[in-house]
Amino acid sequence: MDLNEYRIKGKEAVDYIADYLKDIRKRRVFPDVVPGYIRELLPCEAPDKGEKWDEIFKDVERVIMPGITHWQSPHMHAYFPALNSFPSLIGDMISDAINCLGFTWASSPAATELESLMMDWLVKSLGLPEKFLISNQEPYGGGVLQTSVSESTYLALLAARSRIFDKYGCSDVEKYIEKSEINGRLVAYCSNQAHSSVEKSALIAITRLRLLPTDDDIRLRGETLKKAIEQDRKDGLIPFFVCATLGTTGVCAFDNLEEIGPICKSEDLWLHIDAAYAGSAFVCPEYRHFLKGMENATSFVFNPSKWLMVHFDCTCLWVESSIWLHQTFTVNPLYLKHKYSGAAIDYMHWQVGLSRRFRALKLWFVIRSFGIEGLQNHIRKGVKLAELFENLVRCDQRFEIVAKRHMGLVVFRLKGENEVTEQLLKQLNKDGRLHVVPARVKNKYIIRFTVTSIDTTEEDISRDWNIIQAIAGEVLDKVEL
Ligand code: PLP
Repeated sequence: MDLNEYRIKGKEAVDYIADYLKDIRKRRVFPDVVPGYIRELLPCEAPDKGEKWDEIFKDVERVIMPGITHWQSPHMHAYFPALNSFPSLIGDMISDAINCLGFTWASSPAATELESLMMDWLVKSLGLPEKFLISNQEPYGGGVLQTSVSESTYLALLAARSRIFDKYGCSDVEKYIEKSEINGRLVAYCSNQAHSSVEKSALIAITRLRLLPTDDDIRLRGETLKKAIEQDRKDGLIPFFVCATLGTTGVCAFDNLEEIGPICKSEDLWLHIDAAYAGSAFVCPEYRHFLKGMENATSFVFNPSKWLMVHFDCTCLWVESSIWLHQTFTVNPLYLKHKYSGAAIDYMHWQVGLSRRFRALKLWFVIRSFGIEGLQNHIRKGVKLAELFENLVRCDQRFEIVAKRHMGLVVFRLKGENEVTEQLLKQLNKDGRLHVVPARVKNKYIIRFTVTSIDTTEEDISRDWNIIQAIAGEVLDKVEL
């Protein structure tokens, strides 16, 4: 493909994307394919000679689309949203064309400069503590874009470990190894509702993790944490890290930061806050009461790539001190040194990998295009539609809502045995006109219903509720037979 063909075919691709998004309601949300389906449609070896672009592009509809779960569909209600928007898509088009790898300030100054400014914009727009603003003075707080919340939680855990090692007199790798028995005594905490990525972080770091019980409102409470810490200290262990969740994956519950924060402070533990989904809602002041206690947070992470219309990947991680990230990840080969090393931010010291995408561009485009007001309207609209769905469920006596609705997530089930709701979910996804996934809360099998698309209307919600009611009727008829 030469430049001229790129101009033509690139524009055609933009038209294809616009039509795909415009007509997405016509597509079955959940694909009806089986593992290995692509091997049936494509040759088992790469072509020797280059193919014509039109032939290649035709295969998007023939081969790819039949196996796509359409996350942008208004009838997609599974997981949490992964929204895109036109400014975001254009942002990545340009970023992909530039394709700079902004590992150091010098490797592409605009990438680092824009990223650090966007992180500051968001601190102010979400009402986060000022300590998360980029600072050139100790303790060098600030924000960075990462690929995922999972990765960010892992980074925070490793940084927290460096911090505790330092406290025990191990300031470099040689000393860590000397005192490696400390690692065996470390213990981290989260609630039993925390995302599996916390468990994965502890697995990779080979540290103990306690999954603590939650209260009736599915929140981790201070007293529970305090007792666990006391017991572990008595047993000679070293508590070092707490991950609190604002907006759990199962039911969007909020751990009680007001209680947990002061305990972490007095016990000198790293408090990491995972607000993967709910973090976007803090652009609206009415949700910021969940942030009470944030002043004690050591790090905070959320995904604009979930609900803020900046498409994947785009995860914001803030730390009150980047010293511990530096302590964990800094290596300084000559070929990466530059005139401003040490004076400017080199984000390679804030992550595992070296190369990093220019993600800030799409974030900048989205914030500027919508403005804070536009982002607030978008969040409020999603919550209103979830409220509408909740009210519909409450009007049907066959169903129950198991946990309080927070933000855009409604969790519901058919009254009675778990198997009936399991059947309902199975039949809904087999039908494919909408897509939902389950969770388990208080030993009850539930269906999660999130409002995902930016184009969801009240009619879409009513249509999906009608489908759920009809399929529930069939499932219940079979149970009664
Ligand atoms: N934390 C919570 C609360 C989540 O709900 C999720 C995913 O939905 C994650 C972490 C994982 O996010 P990521 O896919 O960015 O790793």
